[in-house]
Amino acid sequence: MKIRGTCTRCGRDFLVQQVLESQGHCPWCGKPFQPSYTAVLAEALQQAEAAGSSLENALEKLAGMGPALTLDEDSVLGQARAHLERLRQAEKRTP
Ligand SMILES: [Zn+2]
Repeated sequence: MKIRGTCTRCGRDFLVQQVLESQGHCPWCGKPFQPSYTAVLAEALQQAEAAGSSLENALEKLAGMGPALTLDEDSVLGQARAHLERLRQAEKRTP
C-alpha cells in the first residue's frame, strides 16, 4: 500500500516513503510535520503503510476464497475512518 498525504503548510502531496527519507519532514517545504515528534511520526506513517498492506492482503485472500461470509465494513475500518477524520479536522486548524 502506498499511502499518500498532503502537507497542510505548502499544500503539496507526498508519499510516506518520501517522509521516511526526509525523517518526518515535508519533502517539498522541508518543515517538520510535528516538530516534537518527527521520529515517532515517521515511524507511525511507516506502520500505517505496512499495516494497510497486511490488511489489504488478508482481505484479498478472503475475497479470493469465495467464502460464505461477509464482513461488516465499519468493524474493519470504523476506528481507522474516525482517526483519519480527526486528521482532517486538525488540518483545518493549521494556519
Ligand atoms: Zn510542505
